[in-house]
Amino acid sequence: MNKSKIWLSSPHMGGNEQNYVQEAFDTNWVAPLGPNVTGFESDLEQYLGGEKYVAALSSGTAALHLALIQLGVGPGDEVICQSMTFSASANPIVYQGATPIFVDSEPDTWNICPNALEEAVKDRIAKGKKPKAIIAVHLYGMPFQVDAVMAIANKYEIPLIEDSAEALGSHYKGQKCGTIGAFGVLSFNGNKIITTSGGGALVTGNQATKEKIVFLATQARDAAPHYQHSEIGYNYRLSNICAGIGRGQMEVLDKHIQLRREMHAFYNELFKEIDGITLFTEPNSDYFSNHWLSAITVNSEVRNGITSEQLRLRFEAENIESRPLWKPMHLQPVFEGLPYYGGNVAENLFLNGLCLPSGSNLSDSDRERIAAVINSI
Ligand SMILES: *Cc1c(COP(=O)(O)O)cnc(C)c1O
Repeated sequence: MNKSKIWLSSPHMGGNEQNYVQEAFDTNWVAPLGPNVTGFESDLEQYLGGEKYVAALSSGTAALHLALIQLGVGPGDEVICQSMTFSASANPIVYQGATPIFVDSEPDTWNICPNALEEAVKDRIAKGKKPKAIIAVHLYGMPFQVDAVMAIANKYEIPLIEDSAEALGSHYKGQKCGTIGAFGVLSFNGNKIITTSGGGALVTGNQATKEKIVFLATQARDAAPHYQHSEIGYNYRLSNICAGIGRGQMEVLDKHIQLRREMHAFYNELFKEIDGITLFTEPNSDYFSNHWLSAITVNSEVRNGITSEQLRLRFEAENIESRPLWKPMHLQPVFEGLPYYGGNVAENLFLNGLCLPSGSNLSDSDRERIAAVINSI
């Protein structure tokens, strides 16, 4: 039996990436600028559609950081952030000397709960500080409750940063994730739906904001023959080599989304006969998830005591990677004691949930090995 490692989500090259990288070498554009950077940005702009402008950056974290800077977030400010997420959603708030205010999820999309969000906004305003921004996340590719969340952002006039790092290609009522908020954040890290080996992008609504973001990302150089600076800058631009990988990946993005969705359909087929295990699925046809990761929750009372952790260990014994859901930020030691609004939805998801191998590059024999573990319970 083939016991090679089955990963949760590993890089999947389309074939043309090396041609773009070779071109960068051939033309000596081995730098954090060049034709691949511009080409990758315009590929993304076309893909996202609408009047959107994309700045290619060194990571999704850098994109979040620059979005906060552009919104004027500074020391003493408060920023609301979905608690159930990867730490990179929240860390840039702290880089700016501001305080994260964490908010629970709702059970349908696992993303920010509109009721808890409004409670948080009202309470922070009552306590004397209106939050400077809201960071909402499309977890595992699933769009958050866009209409309800945007209604609150608009009602209280708080800009919304859409952490779409896991949701390139997902959409809500036909509108692509990343194009909905004041800013959209994308990530091209090694495990994401497309990779540049490491990279990210910030999506903005106008050309001038994009230019400002690129200015900040390239050390904030004033227009002068010498090096002159009137603002603090960052070294956050994407390299022309990495962008070349991105251009190749854009050619296969839609195909890879289709393959991830086929993995989800494969799990749907497997789990439909198994009581007590629920596959994370779009609530209705308004939602289209790229199914970056397929995930389940396990009800151990129904499963005769089998927990998500025991299932994870069974996979591990077969050299198959699976992973608990994101541990909520309000339960992380580093964020201990910070304000939190909501109940225990995110906490219960963390305690009972598991992400399953979801890559677009899994083979039939990989699927057989995965099915064998699941059928053994
Ligand atoms: C991956 C990820 C990020 C950060 O992106 P990097 O490119 O790794 O810096 C931010 N938010 C979420 C939800 C992510 O999954």
